[in-house]
Amino acid sequence: DFRVKLTHQSRDELGELSKSIQKLADDLEHTKKERMEFLAAISHELRTPLTYLSGYSSVLKRDDLSAQDRQRYVSILEEESTRLTELVKNLFDLAQMGETTFTISKESVQSSPFFSNVLQRVEPSFQLEEKYLQLSIREEFEMFVDPVRVEQIVINLLDNARKYSPIGSTTRMDVFLQDGLTVIRIEDEGIGIHPLNFELIFEKLVRVEKSRSREYGGAGLGLAIVKELVDAHGGRIEVISDVGKGSVFTVIL
Ligand code: ADP
Repeated sequence: DFRVKLTHQSRDELGELSKSIQKLADDLEHTKKERMEFLAAISHELRTPLTYLSGYSSVLKRDDLSAQDRQRYVSILEEESTRLTELVKNLFDLAQMGETTFTISKESVQSSPFFSNVLQRVEPSFQLEEKYLQLSIREEFEMFVDPVRVEQIVINLLDNARKYSPIGSTTRMDVFLQDGLTVIRIEDEGIGIHPLNFELIFEKLVRVEKSRSREYGGAGLGLAIVKELVDAHGGRIEVISDVGKGSVFTVIL
């Protein structure tokens, strides 16, 4: 009787052990997948400023640039180098903490100077492609956000608006306060997104329609990063779009 009991117990323990091992293996596999996705996301984030750096460096070599344009491009190079440095620093912090999620540190930020500054940074890339960018700040207000992350959110959304819009089109960014929440609305006149893909585009590594991917380049990570940063702020992001007419992305923080 005693032996039978023991055997039963051992069998239970073995069962438990094998379950634990399986869970450990699953966790490891999950972590590995997360790591890979995280690395891919970081490469994407590094590539954007690098594109600016190489683009504007070659423009600066031209002889026919006005002193004013030259000055502007040098400022962009400076700002993008700073952005890269910040990204690498964040990456280093994350690596040290052994974490794979974004950390945010909120502070009080004045809406007008903040969004004007972000716009100035992005505007030249629109001009180079003969596309227009308009900012309307309905009122001056104070936000409690992580300015570095919100800048990342806005830059990623504006980069997409530019990438997926034709020459001569206008992207409009509207910033306002609604029920005490900051609303950032970005409307483009681009190729649009099919309603079936409204949720999908926020997933990591998703690019809707293969033919598009080849034409426009990109890894399908920009919006996944945007979503994570918005989530980290406890906010939300919405999209509405008409294929062939344009898209509206709304971030509420
Ligand atoms: P990437 O642009 O690098 O492919 P994103 O995660 O930023 O990755 O976007 C995912 C997909 O969503 C894009 O491949 C594109 O098909 C679609 N998309 C995103 N923004 C827009 C936009 N403003 N207009 C049209 N399609 C868009």
